[in-house]
Amino acid sequence: MKQKFPHIKFTLILLGFISNQLVSAQTVGDLISEVDTNSLDLFLNEFSGEVSTTVNNTPVTIRNRVSQSSQGNDLAADYLVERFNSFGNLVVNDSPYSGGGRNVVATQVGQTNPDDIYIICGHYDSVADYCADDNATSTSAILEIARILSQYCIDNTIIYALWDEEERGLIGSRNYANNAANNDDNILGVINMDMIGYDKDQNDDVAIQTRNIANSQGLVNGITNVLNTHSSLIGLTPNVVNPGIEASDHSSFWDQNYSAIALSEAATFSDLTPYYHTSNDRVSTLDLPYFHKISKLGMGIIATLAGLVDSNSCSLSITDNVLEDISIYPNPFFNVINVSLNEVNNSSIQVTNVVGQVIMQQDLRNKTTQINLQDLSKGLYFIKVSSNNKTLSKKIIKE
Ligand SMILES: [Zn+2]
Repeated sequence: MKQKFPHIKFTLILLGFISNQLVSAQTVGDLISEVDTNSLDLFLNEFSGEVSTTVNNTPVTIRNRVSQSSQGNDLAADYLVERFNSFGNLVVNDSPYSGGGRNVVATQVGQTNPDDIYIICGHYDSVADYCADDNATSTSAILEIARILSQYCIDNTIIYALWDEEERGLIGSRNYANNAANNDDNILGVINMDMIGYDKDQNDDVAIQTRNIANSQGLVNGITNVLNTHSSLIGLTPNVVNPGIEASDHSSFWDQNYSAIALSEAATFSDLTPYYHTSNDRVSTLDLPYFHKISKLGMGIIATLAGLVDSNSCSLSITDNVLEDISIYPNPFFNVINVSLNEVNNSSIQVTNVVGQVIMQQDLRNKTTQINLQDLSKGLYFIKVSSNNKTLSKKIIKE
């Protein structure tokens, strides 16, 4: 992005991304019930190329999502970025990494414990055309969960991550997990979903792949609780596999000693869809009610881990006490960003990253202050300006 927006005056409207109709949730069961089978099926049919869709207002068909060898893969990533952005309240990172792959990662910052992170994830790339089960199913489930949960106040930070290049050797997730470990990201659990639409033995079981690494067993116990507590809403039995397979993105997190599990249709290879890794892996071959059940399980797990904030403490009241007459420019910026405001008594700024960690803070002593952020890596940050009990928060982008 090269365009500059100097001296924009911010108003209440620009705070929409924070105050955007967040509401307090009722219960985890209510959220499971909100998972909409029509919405799931639409995402699935669009993302696996059974029906056309629109990306950037252009009619398109996402016929395949093969990494590094088709435009379909980039189109698929564009689709994900656009859908996540349309939900509101998410910070969407479209993250190309060296080698040419592209993870799409959307963050919902926790209101109580922003540094405590749970990840729900799956790969969006494919090996052939269509590949509905592998892994348009999980991609659709994660979109549907994000569509609903992003409207609620949560305690802990949730990251909805869709990885590229899983099929080429877990490249996207490995890149992310390595960076997370280097940054000491406090990831408390990773729920990976891979192939959740074909129940070959027709017994409504869900495979949970785990290992004795970090607190992965704690995640398994949590999932079993969700299945028991909400059995009438979900209707699946757990099939725990320990030691679980390493052939999907959760193992990138095991390698960094993070707690992680995978949900999938198969406890063994022989239980998989017979159309595995072929262009015959089409929506018409799937067991859609089974796909809906695992999607609901995903919602139950992540809503439980997120923690639903009750109505009394869910007052994001910054709109009551908002600062006006303030300029933050340029945005995007390279190394230095300027903050100008009329009243500098008792004023300060704070810069945080997308998971809420404070990167710097300082008092403001002049009407215009240059903030040097040259040491930050490129990406998205938040700047909060406080002055006499009023605040303004703003997304800023470092190029
Ligand atoms: Zn897969």
